[in-house]
Amino acid sequence: MNTGMGNTYCQSCGMPLARDEKGGGTEADGARSVKFCSHCYAEGRFTMPDLTVGGGVNWQNRTFQDATGPDGETHRVSQGSTALVDLFTRYQVTKQLSVQANINNLFDRTYYSWLSDYAVYGEPRNVSVSANYTF
Ligand SMILES: [Zn+2]
Repeated sequence: MNTGMGNTYCQSCGMPLARDEKGGGTEADGARSVKFCSHCYAEGRFTMPDLTVGGGVNWQNRTFQDATGPDGETHRVSQGSTALVDLFTRYQVTKQLSVQANINNLFDRTYYSWLSDYAVYGEPRNVSVSANYTF
């Protein structure tokens, strides 16, 4: 099949459009989509919501540090091993619009990101949501 599309890949799933048995998805008016394959996109709509979920776990080993407080006394600051879990999810709402949410420190563990002469608490759990719109 030679449709003149060359090495064009589905913008949703990454499949080469040249390997799409239908030659690509279809727009609402029936025109062939040059961006999305027939599995992802038909009649101007995504056949399945394009949901992407990812994440990571950062492991911090047990650590401690002797610190001298303002009162001149030395305290031992320590923490056990901590797993910090980050998640992100991306949802393709329409062809142009995708929404991404990031959740950092999912279990809201209190941890020290830095142990030195003083302890700094790491970021508490936070959620950020961003929307991307492509024209
Ligand atoms: Zn696709």
